[in-house]
Amino acid sequence: MIIRRNMMSLPQVYSLDLGRKVNAKEADIAYQKGLIRSQKNFRCPHQLCGIAITCANLERPKQERKVDPYFKSVEYHKPSCPFAEEERRIKLHEADKNSLYENVASGEILVNLTEPAPKKQDSSDISEVEKGSFSRATQSSDSEKEKASINHTKTLSVLVSSFLNNENFQITLPKPYQEKIFLKDAFIKIDGQNLSNLEQNCWRIYYGKAWINKLSNGDYRIVFDNKMKDPDLRKNAVCPSFFIPKDWIDNSPYEKFSKSQMDKLADNKWHREVFIFSDVPSLSHTKEYINFMLEGLPFLEMIYLKK
Ligand SMILES: [Zn+2]
Repeated sequence: MIIRRNMMSLPQVYSLDLGRKVNAKEADIAYQKGLIRSQKNFRCPHQLCGIAITCANLERPKQERKVDPYFKSVEYHKPSCPFAEEERRIKLHEADKNSLYENVASGEILVNLTEPAPKKQDSSDISEVEKGSFSRATQSSDSEKEKASINHTKTLSVLVSSFLNNENFQITLPKPYQEKIFLKDAFIKIDGQNLSNLEQNCWRIYYGKAWINKLSNGDYRIVFDNKMKDPDLRKNAVCPSFFIPKDWIDNSPYEKFSKSQMDKLADNKWHREVFIFSDVPSLSHTKEYINFMLEGLPFLEMIYLKK
């Protein structure tokens, strides 16, 4: 028997199909009755916001659900939206590192998504450069604590190195979709896909050549070179993108994501091979953009690939 959990999420959002606010339970009932057409047909309930919201798991058959349907925003709320703060609080609670996995068997390889402690200024930058390259030596865990535990955890940076080294082994992706998958199957190269053909409700590592732009408000926008499509998109295809909030970079414990590094990439228009560990990308509420949601800096890797 599968024990399903309730995810904490926005309690009520606006249903485009029903024309009123619903909670996830009501959305599920309406979907089963055919009154809601898609798990993507939801919006932030705040009048001045209205960003796109997905009801995760809604379209997944009940017997295959590990988690009951729940709402998640697939764009950043408008700055004035009260739900921005509410959702941030909920995410912080969920991100408690003990809650990333549950009922893990010994020997499973988990993804390490905790931020490192702030870096000491005197430590050399070289170690960070090495992490970005794909030497096998970087794969040993860097703390005694990890060695002692039965499960290995690997950072995204290490998984990317293994992938580029053509290695393959099984890893376990975190909640809410806690899924075992072979490394090679977890990587998806951005290459003209239609969003409606991508597997929904799963973590994957999307990657491709990308450009780093700095916006006037100080946030960074990462734009992939290749495009993606969606049946509802206004144009035929667009380059998918995602944002990195300014304060994440200002407080970054990573040298590779420091403000000076990021500004250098943006100013010089240098491209990078960008890897984002994320849920499926989605269409913006304006139907003009395809966006990924970056959950935090541990979910991102950017390296220089000589080709
Ligand atoms: Zn909002």
